Amino acid sequence: MDYLKKLYLEAIGIEYVPGQATMVPGEIDGPASEFETLEQLRELIGDCHRCQLSRGRSNIVFGVGNPHADLVFVGEAPGRDEDLEGKPFVGKAGQLLTRIISAMGLTRDDVYICNVIKCRPPDNRDPLPAEIDMCEPFLKGQLSIIKPRVICALGSFASQTLLQSEVRISRLRGQFRDYGGVPLMPTYHPSFLLRNPHAKREVWEDIKMIMEYLDLPASEHGNN
Ligand code: URA
Repeated sequence: MDYLKKLYLEAIGIEYVPGQATMVPGEIDGPASEFETLEQLRELIGDCHRCQLSRGRSNIVFGVGNPHADLVFVGEAPGRDEDLEGKPFVGKAGQLLTRIISAMGLTRDDVYICNVIKCRPPDNRDPLPAEIDMCEPFLKGQLSIIKPRVICALGSFASQTLLQSEVRISRLRGQFRDYGGVPLMPTYHPSFLLRNPHAKREVWEDIKMIMEYLDLPASEHGNN
């Protein structure tokens, strides 16, 4: 959270000196607890121009859903529909994600949905390492505020970024991985499912493991 702490200190007019312990107002001891709410974190992001993606975006796509969710879905980056609406997963892939969530017996308001990258990359290209470095701390901030019981990483980009791994999604999926003490289930991205509907069966296996972990009642509506 060092990067977030730096941004926070600068926002409240305190100079950040790397390596030097700086008391954050309200901090008693231990690690800084500078962000308690998603609103505070969103405010800190502001009208972000920290990387080049700001030039082509219409909206910053921060995240939506329950700020106390047990389950957080993390995707890659907004596409065209998400950029225009300012909400994650509202296009075709998003509609499929919504169906997966309802097959779990939940609604989008029960879970939290966000992306690693908050602004749309031009022509939906893969985010660049410098863009990930700038934006990933905000995702980490979201996860540390929400404190979900489970994270579901959608697709290879989110899975590999969160797990700092280069292992392919086909090998990462199918079992819980560890994200700083939180079980993380990598699974295929809904966009991949739109192109490869046969992979829905594997995603449903992954989703059933999440449901079991969260003690959600078994559903017969999966795999459709
Ligand atoms: N794909 C993603 O990874 N995220 C979105 O929000 C939409 C499509």
